[in-house]
Amino acid sequence: LQVHQVELEMQNEELKEAQEELAKLLDEFHEFYDEAPVGYFSLDRNGNVRNVNIKGAELLGLDKGMIVGFGFVRFIPLNYQTKYYRSLKDAMVKCNVEEVELQLKREKSLFYVQMQIVPIYDKFDEKYRITITDITERKKAEEELLQNHDIFNAIIEDAEGPIFSVDCNYRYTSFNLLHAKVMKTLFNADIKIGNNILDYHTNPDDRENAKLNIDKALDGEVVKIESYAGDNLQNYRYFSIFHSPIKDSNGKVIGAAVYAHDITERKKAEEKLKQAHDNLEEQVKERTRELYNERQRLFDVLETVPIMICLLRPDYHVAFANRAFREKFGESGGRHCYEYCFGYSEPCEFCESFKPLETGEPHYWQVKSPDGSIIDSYDFPFTDTDGSPLILEMDIDVTEQKQAEEALKSTLRELERYNEELQSFAYITSHDLQEPLRSIASYAQLIERRYKGQLDSDADDFLDYMVGGATRLQGMIKGLLEYSRVGTKGGEFKDFNAEEALNHALSNLKSSIDECHVEVIYDHLPVIHADENQISRVFQNLIGNALKFRKKDIQPKIHISTQTDDEYIFSIADNGIGIEEQYKDRIFEVFKRLHPIGEYDGAGIGLAIVKKIVERHGGRIWVESEFGVGSTFYFALPVKSHE
Ligand code: ADP
Repeated sequence: LQVHQVELEMQNEELKEAQEELAKLLDEFHEFYDEAPVGYFSLDRNGNVRNVNIKGAELLGLDKGMIVGFGFVRFIPLNYQTKYYRSLKDAMVKCNVEEVELQLKREKSLFYVQMQIVPIYDKFDEKYRITITDITERKKAEEELLQNHDIFNAIIEDAEGPIFSVDCNYRYTSFNLLHAKVMKTLFNADIKIGNNILDYHTNPDDRENAKLNIDKALDGEVVKIESYAGDNLQNYRYFSIFHSPIKDSNGKVIGAAVYAHDITERKKAEEKLKQAHDNLEEQVKERTRELYNERQRLFDVLETVPIMICLLRPDYHVAFANRAFREKFGESGGRHCYEYCFGYSEPCEFCESFKPLETGEPHYWQVKSPDGSIIDSYDFPFTDTDGSPLILEMDIDVTEQKQAEEALKSTLRELERYNEELQSFAYITSHDLQEPLRSIASYAQLIERRYKGQLDSDADDFLDYMVGGATRLQGMIKGLLEYSRVGTKGGEFKDFNAEEALNHALSNLKSSIDECHVEVIYDHLPVIHADENQISRVFQNLIGNALKFRKKDIQPKIHISTQTDDEYIFSIADNGIGIEEQYKDRIFEVFKRLHPIGEYDGAGIGLAIVKKIVERHGGRIWVESEFGVGSTFYFALPVKSHE
C-alpha cells in the first residue's frame, strides 16, 4: 500500500506537473490566440461566436462582448452571406479547410478579408474556427492592377501597330488583335496564347531573325530594327520593330514585349522618293552631259570665230582668250592685260575696256594695237560662274576695212572732182561750141540758099548733108548743155501741185496735141516737194515722146495717172509704137535712139535728161512696154524729196 501510496504520489506529482504544463500551454495558447496578428473566431455549430481574439475584435471594430454570443453572419453584408454559408457547409461536409474572400462590416463601412474556415470535431460538438486576414490593401492593389490592366489592354488594342509578348520560351503571353491579323495575313496563322511564335515563321531566315531579336530582348537589351515580313512579294509589309525585355518585380527578365509599327506606306513612299531621286539624278546627269556638250560646242565656236574674244577680270587678269585673240597677242601666261597686249607695266591710260564695270552698260571704242592695226573693241558687263564681275571683250581688226574706207573716200572725192570737172567741161564745151556751130550752120544754110541748083547734083546733096549735120549737131549740143545743167543749174525744191507742172507741159505741147487730135486724160495729181520746172520738163519730155512715137493709123491716147504708197509713182501711158524688150534700159542713155536719122526727130538725149532729173530728186524711172501696142513710162519720187 505504501508502495502504492508512493506510486500514487508520484503519479499525482506527474499529473500536477502535467497540469501545470498544460496550464502553461493553455496560457501560451491564449496569449498566442489573443496576440495573433490574424483575427480568430471560434464558432459553435450554429455559427455563433464563442470566442474572438484581440485582432478579431479589432478588425470588426467592436468590443469582444459585442461579438461573442452573436451569430458571425451578423458581421457579413447581405450580398456575401450566401457565399459564407456555402463555405461553412462545404467545410463541414468536405471536412476540409475552406478559403473564401468576402467582405465584413466595420462600423459603417466594409472591408475585404481572406477567410479560412476550419471545421473542428470533438466529442461534444461540431464547431468552426474562422481566421480572417484584412486584405483591403491587397484588394485595392488588385483592383488598381485590374484597372491598369484594362487601360493597358485598351491601349494595346487601340495601338496602331501590332503588339505581343512572349515568355522566355517564345510562347505568346499576350497579343493584340492587329498582331493576330498581321499574322493571319502574312502567314495565314491563327495564333494562340501559349503557342511558340517561331513556329509560325515559315521562312527559315525570318524565323532566325525573329529569334535573334527576341533573344536580345530576353538578354535585357532594347532592340529597334526595320524589317519586312511576308511569305511572298505581293504580300510583304515593312515594320519598324521594338523588342524590349519584360521584367518581374525583382528585375528578372521573364519575357519579351514586341511592338511593331507598320511603316510599309512610309517605306513605299521612301522607295518612290528614292526612285524619283534616282530619276532626277539621272536627268541631272544627262542635263550636265548636255550642258558639258553645249559648253564644249560654245567653246569650239569661240575658238573658231575670227573675232578676238577675251574675258577680263577687274584686277586686269585675262581669264580667257580665244584662238583669234591668242593668234594676235600670243599666250597671256597669267600676265595683266596691259602687259600681255601692250607690253606696259601699268594699266593703259587710254583703256576704256573696264567702263562697263562702272556703268553696267556695253561700251564701244576703237584702239590702235602696238602693231599699228586698228581694233573695234566691244566691251560687255559679264558675270563669272561664281557671280564675280568680268568684262567680255570682243575685238575686231578693222585695219583693212579702215584702209578700204579711206581709199573709197579718196576715190569718191576724186570722182566728185572729176565729175565736177566733167560737168563744167560738158557745160563749157557745149556752151562754147554753140557759137562756132551756129556760124557753121548759118553759113552752110547761106551757101545752100545761094548756090543750090547752080552746082552739080552731088554738090547739092553735100550741101544738104552739111546743113542737116550742122542742125543735128546743134540739137545734140543743146541737149548736152541742158543735160549738164540739170545738176548745176537746178531750181529750189518747194511744195507745188504736180498737176500745175503737168498743165505747164501740156500747154507747151498744145499745138502738137491739137494737130494730132490726141486724147489726153489725167488723174488728180498730188502736191509734191520738188523742182517745179524740172518736173514740168519730165512731163513734157515723156508726153512729147508719146506724141512723137504714136501710131499713124489710130487716134493717139495718153493717160497720166499717179499712185501714192511709200513714194509717188507717176505713169504716162500711150498707145504708140512700143519698145522692144531689149532696148528698155538703153533708151535712158545719152544719145541712144532706136530709129534711123530722118524717121523721127530728136537727138536721143530727152530720156537721159528725164532720168537725171528724177535721180536728182532721189527717185527712179523705168518703162513697161509691149512692142506695137504701147508704152507706159513710170517715174517714182520719194514722198519727201531732198535736193
Ligand atoms: P529722142 O530725142 O530721140 O526722142 P529720147 O531720149 O527722148 O530721144 O528717146 C530715146 C528713144 O527711146 C527714142 O529714140 C525712141 O526710140 C524711144 N522712145 C522714147 N519714148 C518712146 C515712146 N513713148 N514710144 C516708143 N518709143 C519711145
